[in-house]
Amino acid sequence: MASHFQGRLREAYNAMSARVLDVMQGEHGVRQSLEHALMQAREWVMTASELTHEEADDLAATLRREVDELSQTLAAAEDEFEDWVETDLLVAENQALERVLLAADPTTRDLMRLKEMWAAQMAQLLHAGDTVGAGAYECVDCGEVLHFDAEENVLPACPTCGGTCYRRLRSAVM
Ligand SMILES: [Zn+2]
Repeated sequence: MASHFQGRLREAYNAMSARVLDVMQGEHGVRQSLEHALMQAREWVMTASELTHEEADDLAATLRREVDELSQTLAAAEDEFEDWVETDLLVAENQALERVLLAADPTTRDLMRLKEMWAAQMAQLLHAGDTVGAGAYECVDCGEVLHFDAEENVLPACPTCGGTCYRRLRSAVM
């Protein structure tokens, strides 16, 4: 983790993280790969912060490792929650990536919170065949909403798309 950097090295690390994100997001209208952005940021931070080659290499290697760790965590989370709405995942993924690249002190605790958040959302999902109470249930795949008035109902496959994954709507208009 980046936290072992102190003083000017920490400042340089943060500056480099921000630089990498700028370059990747297409500072000059062209999006760059992480590899390329890291190389550029390494050269830039060495001059800007007057670092030695060794220090700059160390910072770049650490940043690289953190991005790799995050990617693996996100990939694992993605597998685990593959049924989860894609757009939600992408938004969360981007936010997490930005946090690692921008944040002064990215910690695994942030990632754990992200995973817990997803887990909590997944735990609330219901499936075709489940017995549910009165209320409104939204198909995760297509957004079709089923309304039930009875006390006990068996969720069918989605009549619109055949999906089998639902979430209960909290503020259902009955
Ligand atoms: Zn559906």
